[in-house]
Amino acid sequence: MKVDHYAVFGHPIGHSKSPRIHRLFAEQTKQSLAYAAQDVPAESFVAAADAFFADGGKGLNCTVPLKELAWQYADRLTERARLAKAVNTLARQADGSIVGDNTDGVGLVNDLTLNHGITLPGSRILILGAGGASRGIVGPLLECRPARVTIANRTVYKAETMVAEFEGLGNVDSSGYPELEGRQFDLILNATSASLSAQLPPLPANLLAEQGCCYDLAYGTQPTAFVIWGIAQHASKSLDGLGMLVEQAAEAFFVWRGIRPLTGPVIELLNGECQAASPALGY
Ligand code: NDP
Repeated sequence: MKVDHYAVFGHPIGHSKSPRIHRLFAEQTKQSLAYAAQDVPAESFVAAADAFFADGGKGLNCTVPLKELAWQYADRLTERARLAKAVNTLARQADGSIVGDNTDGVGLVNDLTLNHGITLPGSRILILGAGGASRGIVGPLLECRPARVTIANRTVYKAETMVAEFEGLGNVDSSGYPELEGRQFDLILNATSASLSAQLPPLPANLLAEQGCCYDLAYGTQPTAFVIWGIAQHASKSLDGLGMLVEQAAEAFFVWRGIRPLTGPVIELLNGECQAASPALGY
């Protein structure tokens, strides 16, 4: 039987759960495919992607630090990728051309709404960070008609630039961290990379509205610093980004294969493994 080849490129890539997730999707949907992880530093990206597609590869996921390079590499972009200026999914078409897509935003929205029952229309959303992940999620969040999306970043001009690019899609404003003092939000999303070094952005007290939720795009075997912060703020839910990871992978799988895998069993399996790795923390 012919096996279609897919891969995730990134640097570093050793920790990636994507091969596991896509193999589980393939098993579940009875698709014949192979999915590998390849360590590709930024300077080797174009040569590695050219070689992959020349060998007949069907699709690539791209992660840190390659999403912007993948955006430049694509022959055509979906609208959500064009706005995000970042691509996490490349798909080879029948005519050999490469389409770039960004499935991070829809992955986050599906995890928030379908898996956790969080209401987005009319809510006040705060996004911390103005990097690649933030760029991928702001458009799909605005499409859900929240009351407002505020983007806060350490380097404020990056948040201001994003507001200028996305303001046509809905109510969006920018802020530095000190200027958040006195404001309240129903949902706070951590799209900074601070959690990766067990740090927190400098957040003022009383930022989270009563019954509000916190969500860290980062994830690990133990609760992140931001998930712990959310619990301390009495968030009704304080979640990490494992569900988003699985949901963005499911959307990429759909882009490539035209089939939507069930995400629930995969999230449950991976969460169970995280809990087994840190049973004392019980999250
Ligand atoms: P980038 O490097 O593009 O952006 C990093 C952002 O974090 C910048 O806004 C930067 O601010 C900010 N930042 C870094 N350290 C701190 C700090 N100590 N305090 C305050 N702000 C800080 O990273 P990405 O956008 O690609 O990734 C962000 C996070 O999202 C990562 O944890 C990544 O793992 C996660 N992610 C999860 C996904 C999932 O599927 N669950 C998918 C994609 C990303 P400044 O501009 O001022 O430097």
